[in-house]
Amino acid sequence: RRVPAVVNEPIRSHAPGTPERASLKQRLASMAGEHVDIPVIVNGKEYRTGDTAPVVMPHDHAHVLGTWHKATPELVQEAIAATAAARDEWSRWAWEDRAAVFLRAAELLSTTWRDTLNAATMLGQSKTAFQSEIDAACELIDFFRFNCAYVEDLYGEQPLSEKGVWNQTDYRPLEGFVYAVSPFNFTAIGGNLSGAPALVGNTVIWKPAQTAMLSGYYVMKLLEAAGLPPGVINFVPGDPVPISDALLSHADLGGVHFTGSTTVFNSMWKTIGSRMGAYRSYPRIVGETGGKDFIMAHASADVDALAVAIVRGAFEYQGQKCSACSRVYIPQSLWAGVRDRMVAMMADIGMGDVRDFRNFMGAVIDEKSFTKIGGYLDEARATGTIISGGTASKDVGYFVAPTLVQVEDPGARLLCEEIFGPFVTAYVYPDDQYVETMKVVDRTSPYALTGAIFADDRHAVRLAHTHLRNAAGNFYINDKCTGAVVGQQPFGGARGSGTNDKAGSKLNLLRWVSARSIKETF
Ligand code: GLU
Repeated sequence: RRVPAVVNEPIRSHAPGTPERASLKQRLASMAGEHVDIPVIVNGKEYRTGDTAPVVMPHDHAHVLGTWHKATPELVQEAIAATAAARDEWSRWAWEDRAAVFLRAAELLSTTWRDTLNAATMLGQSKTAFQSEIDAACELIDFFRFNCAYVEDLYGEQPLSEKGVWNQTDYRPLEGFVYAVSPFNFTAIGGNLSGAPALVGNTVIWKPAQTAMLSGYYVMKLLEAAGLPPGVINFVPGDPVPISDALLSHADLGGVHFTGSTTVFNSMWKTIGSRMGAYRSYPRIVGETGGKDFIMAHASADVDALAVAIVRGAFEYQGQKCSACSRVYIPQSLWAGVRDRMVAMMADIGMGDVRDFRNFMGAVIDEKSFTKIGGYLDEARATGTIISGGTASKDVGYFVAPTLVQVEDPGARLLCEEIFGPFVTAYVYPDDQYVETMKVVDRTSPYALTGAIFADDRHAVRLAHTHLRNAAGNFYINDKCTGAVVGQQPFGGARGSGTNDKAGSKLNLLRWVSARSIKETF
């Protein structure tokens, strides 16, 4: 291998008394007082349009961290022009030179930029230090490094040749720009949605989530610091609808790299479908969308491990992961033990400002999300039994208490719809209905992102492989359903959860190249 050997970036603990904790705390304090003025960045130039919105802390929404500028329609057009202008040269760079930019970004992020990305993610998205570290630091570093290794493998895949003939595959980038649309919940995802297509020679327009502007901006500045040439990735924040309309209707659209809601992804796909014939090539459409992720237990499961997995899977980052555990199926014989352990752990969960490192949870992202989750709390009061939690307050920040609800009806809305908050619904099944209940798990949600089975009995695990085969793109056995690691568990789901072009894998990179087969006869 030519790319330096890749291993997963070690996670920093930020434990009390460590220098890493002190330096992160210092960066948090300085960033909280900085008031960043976040521009649109097109062709390497910064534009402050004056049409602005504030960046606030979800856990203290009166605290304004900065301002971000929205792209004007003219700037969106300029971004398209910038991608066209930069494409030829960037795509002709040797792949090693392109990889060097991302390897350098990984190195900078692993060292001098780490506190900045972590602080921005903690303050702007209300992640705890640990949740931020596994996202904005480790996962993003891993995306950059592993993708470079996958690119080397990909380009090395060449067809057979015979005497007098030389066959080659030329992995060309797409002919148009890639539109990257990133969510608020993972800083690393924004870097990968824009970075992966760029690494294989594409030029990109990146629209970051309005509620993750601070970390998005610093990811962009990191890539610039690593030597990304102007115009390769253009950072275009703004109102989603006009930006998407302009980009999706352009003949140069080469592809869409999306993570976000199923509704938005569906509407983008429809827009593209309605314009077929207007594009130079068939646009590549890659999306990771919603989830209604489950943990199911067999009667042979280890109750302690199961309860910990549910609490972590459901409540870490306030349940705002596409992979978060939001429905659990527990056999009657285990239920009292699981419930009591969960209630005890939930009573100990600290929730508040993430700058207090003792807190396990921060706030949910914004008022819209707070209100949506509130609707499901009402639903729980009307149709279920709230075992723990059920309260919420937005006085200081958008806080929703970790909530465990039990329902009797396996078809209840709470067991079928994505909530995206610290909210888990339990269904208790008769022990002898294991297989029937798996069929219910498979049938009752339109999604298929992540899921887990807890069982000590090997036969029960085998049955789960059979009956839950299509229920999750990431399937866990005796582990929580969150926390996929780049290079270890390539991430993505099918059905309503997306196109399953696993993030951080060669499969994903393949979507951003258009192969040319070359035959030369000597
Ligand atoms: N990859 C993350 C995990 O496994 C989830 C990413 C997402 O929420 O989109 O937890």
